[in-house]
Amino acid sequence: MKTEKYAAGDSVPMFCSACDDETSHTIQTVTKLGKISSASCATCQTSSTFKAGVKTGVTAGKGKVPDPYDRKRKYKKGQAMMHSHFGHGEVTAVLEPQKIDVLFGDTTRRLLHAQD
Ligand SMILES: [Zn+2]
Repeated sequence: MKTEKYAAGDSVPMFCSACDDETSHTIQTVTKLGKISSASCATCQTSSTFKAGVKTGVTAGKGKVPDPYDRKRKYKKGQAMMHSHFGHGEVTAVLEPQKIDVLFGDTTRRLLHAQD
């Protein structure tokens, strides 16, 4: 178990779904226990919110635009997409070989992928 404590303003390396890479993130808010509750990517300004270590929201920055959602494509956890209705999303879970949960803003939606 990590017992590391963070403070707002700290920079931490974190995986950014929009950059599709590990980038430096600036911590915006922390919980009473020193856990990150929101942080933003220094490269593209995409901000993510967390609850108990789980990502609960993502707001796209102005840096990179992810590829459009394509149900024929196969997605991995953490991958970003741009949906024509819901906007910028991030895959939070692969449920079944052809079903994924994607976080749009603060709403998780179930989408299909890997469709032939
Ligand atoms: Zn980024």
